[in-house]
Amino acid sequence: MAQGLRLVLFGPPGAGKGTQSQLLTDRYKLAHVSSGDLFRKNLQQGTPLGIRAKEFMAQGVLVPDEVTIDIILTEVISINTEDGFILDGFPRNTRQALELEGALATRSRGVDHVVHIDVSEPELVRRLGGRYICWGCQAPYTVETDAELQACERCGGELYQREDDRPDAVKRRIVVYREETLPLLTFYRERGILVDVPGDDTIDEVNRRIVAALEP
Ligand code: AMP
Repeated sequence: MAQGLRLVLFGPPGAGKGTQSQLLTDRYKLAHVSSGDLFRKNLQQGTPLGIRAKEFMAQGVLVPDEVTIDIILTEVISINTEDGFILDGFPRNTRQALELEGALATRSRGVDHVVHIDVSEPELVRRLGGRYICWGCQAPYTVETDAELQACERCGGELYQREDDRPDAVKRRIVVYREETLPLLTFYRERGILVDVPGDDTIDEVNRRIVAALEP
């Protein structure tokens, strides 16, 4: 069996990483590892991890590496060698990227492509202001008016607005992205695996561009 794709989806909050991850996992049958979803599930369940992550998430800053790296790498390493995966929201700083590289290298693996979804700041703010996610499966939706707020199309779950999608936290998350996460673009460009995709357009158009880049 062919080796599955190993992807990192990279981009600011609101770039559409979650939405594109869903489309790509369906298309290529990949495992989806989302650090944000994992933290939110733990928060909902009131686990020690959720309690630890709560304040950092609410403020829009990164959960400390000591908490994050082990949890995510344990998930990544548990994926069968021949299966592909998408990492969504991880790595978010240089230390996380180095640890990921090291963990995959011990199993003679690496990331095939880092897909950078590039979205302008006004568009990010607009999208996050109208973003709701499913309580059950975490699927994201962007709505223009409350009338569009239906149950989740995937699982029928109730939609809610994330605490960190409120304006203050959004501003902080964009600053954190610029200062801590953006330097990773150089890191991955130097490794020759970065794919830049303009991301201000519709979900379908952005997906088409990503697929075209992955299947040249
Ligand atoms: P997201 O759903 O990816 O926007 O993540 C929501 C929040 O979870 C972030 O604002 C961080 O507080 C935390 N988080 C998610 N992924 C990471 C990560 N790789 N490192 C540190 N914190 C993270």
